[in-house]
Amino acid sequence: MLQLPSLITTDRGETRFLLFDDLHLLWDHARGADLLDTADNPAAIDASNHDAAKTTGSETVKASRPAAGFPDGAAGKPDGHPVLIVDENVMSAHQERINAAFPDDKVHCFEVPSGEASKSIAMWNRVMDFAFTGPLKRNTPLIAVGGGVTGDLAGFAAASLMRGLPLYHVPTTLLAMVDSAIGGKTGINHAFGKNTIGAFYHPRAVLFDTAFLETLPQREWLCGISEVLKYGYIADPDLLRNGAALANPAKRTPELLHHVIERSVRIKSGVVATDAREAGRRAWLNFGHTFGHALEALDNYRNINHGEAVYAGMIAALFVSRRLGYEVSDEPLLQLKEKYSLDLRPYTSRTGDLVTLMAHDKKNRDSDIRLVLVSAHGNPIVTPVSDLSLLQEAWKYTFDVLT
Ligand code: NAD
Ligand code: ZN
Repeated sequence: MLQLPSLITTDRGETRFLLFDDLHLLWDHARGADLLDTADNPAAIDASNHDAAKTTGSETVKASRPAAGFPDGAAGKPDGHPVLIVDENVMSAHQERINAAFPDDKVHCFEVPSGEASKSIAMWNRVMDFAFTGPLKRNTPLIAVGGGVTGDLAGFAAASLMRGLPLYHVPTTLLAMVDSAIGGKTGINHAFGKNTIGAFYHPRAVLFDTAFLETLPQREWLCGISEVLKYGYIADPDLLRNGAALANPAKRTPELLHHVIERSVRIKSGVVATDAREAGRRAWLNFGHTFGHALEALDNYRNINHGEAVYAGMIAALFVSRRLGYEVSDEPLLQLKEKYSLDLRPYTSRTGDLVTLMAHDKKNRDSDIRLVLVSAHGNPIVTPVSDLSLLQEAWKYTFDVLT
C-alpha cells in the first residue's frame, strides 16, 4: 500500500513532513534527506507561502532550499544508532513494523507507559537515564513513535539531551498526526499545570505511516477528528465534511486519510510558520479550546478527554459567533453527536463554574476573555468578550443540544 510521497518544507526548511505509508522507507528517506537539497526535489512543498486563512482552492507549490544548519543546533547528518522512544501500546501492536524499520540490534528502545501521567518529570528523568546508558553522541537521532504523550515527552528529551539531539516524530494517533507532532511544542506536566515545563523544539522530520491507525481505538479517532474539524472552521471548510467522514470506519480509505492529514498539516504548519510563539495567528488554533479547557478542568481530567471537550467547546464558540451576528453553523458537529456520546449531565448545573475557569485560562490577557470565534466557515477572528452571561448561555445551549 505504497502511496505517493509528500515532502513539505516549513518556513526555514526545518521540518520535513513525509507521508509514505512505509516506515522502513520513510526512515531511510528521512535520514538520507538531511543531506538532500530540496530545491532539486520536485516533491518539496513550501508551506511558508501557505496562507492558513485562505486554504481553499489551489495551492502554491514551490520548492525551497533549506537554511544552513538546524534549529536544534545540531548541524549535519544524524549519526549513530537511534534512540527510540515508543508508546507501549504501539510497541505491542506494531512490533514487527517497528523492528523492520529500525532493526533492533541497532536501536536503543525505551517504552513509554500509556497515558498522560507519562508526561512527568519522573518519566523524563527515566528517559535521560536510559539515553545515557547507550553510546550517545552529539548527533544521535531520537525518534518518537506514539501519540501526543510520547511525542511531547520525547520531544522535550531531545531538546534537553546534549543541548539538542536531531528529533524525528512518528505520530501514531490521528491527533498526533494532525496536531501534536506539528509546530515544535514539546513538554511535560508539573503539579502547577499541564505542559508547564517544555521547550519549542522542531523535529527534523515527521514520518506518517497511516498503517499505525489500524489499531487506534474509536475514542482516540474522535479525539483527532475534533482537531480536524477545528481546521475546518478556522481554515478549510472542506475538512468539516472530510473530517466527519473519518468518524465512520468504513470511510477511512488511504486516500481520504492522506488528504485530511496533508491538509491539516499544511494548515497547522502554515499558521505556526508565521507565528511560532503564539502572539497572534497561532491563537486561531485555540478555536473551541478556551471552552474545552474549562470543561476538562471541571472534570478534573477524568472522564472527558481533550478532543471531546474541544468538540463541546466548538459548539459553544459557534453559539457565541452566531450571537455576535455571524452566519455559522454547528450542524457539522451535531451530526456526530451519537459518535461522541458525551455524558455532560454532571456539569449542566455548573455553567457559572465553567465561565470562572475560562476567565482563569492562561491565554487570557487583562480582564476580558479572548475568544477565537469564526465570522464564516474558514475565517477565524479573535474577540475580547466581557459579557460573561453570554458565555453562560453558550454553555447552556451546548448542554441542551448534547444531552
Ligand atoms: P496519547 O499519546 O495518550 O495516545 C492515546 C492512546 O492511544 C494511548 O493509550 C496510546 O497508548 C494509544 N495509542 C497510540 N497510538 C496507537 C495506535 N496506533 N494503536 C493503538 N493505540 C494507540 O494521546 P494523543 O491524543 O495522541 O495526545 C494527547 C497529548 O498530546 C496530550 O498530552 C496533549 O497535551 C498533547 N498535545 C500536544 C500538542 C503539541 O503541540 N505539542 C498539541 C495537542 C496535544
Ligand atoms: Zn487541542
